[in-house]
Amino acid sequence: MAKKKWARIIVGLQCKECNATNYQTMLNKTNTGKLELQKYCKKEKKHTKHVSKEKLK
Ligand SMILES: [Zn+2]
Repeated sequence: MAKKKWARIIVGLQCKECNATNYQTMLNKTNTGKLELQKYCKKEKKHTKHVSKEKLK
């Protein structure tokens, strides 16, 4: 595997409805717009919109 020089950050994907952070994903630093995805929320047991949330460590 070739190492890539792009800095990557880990962001959380937060449910818009109950604010639970259900997922984590990696983004390139150059690519950090607001990300909105339809994801399954474990708490609500349904698909909801999840928004990327930065500053996750
Ligand atoms: Zn939820």
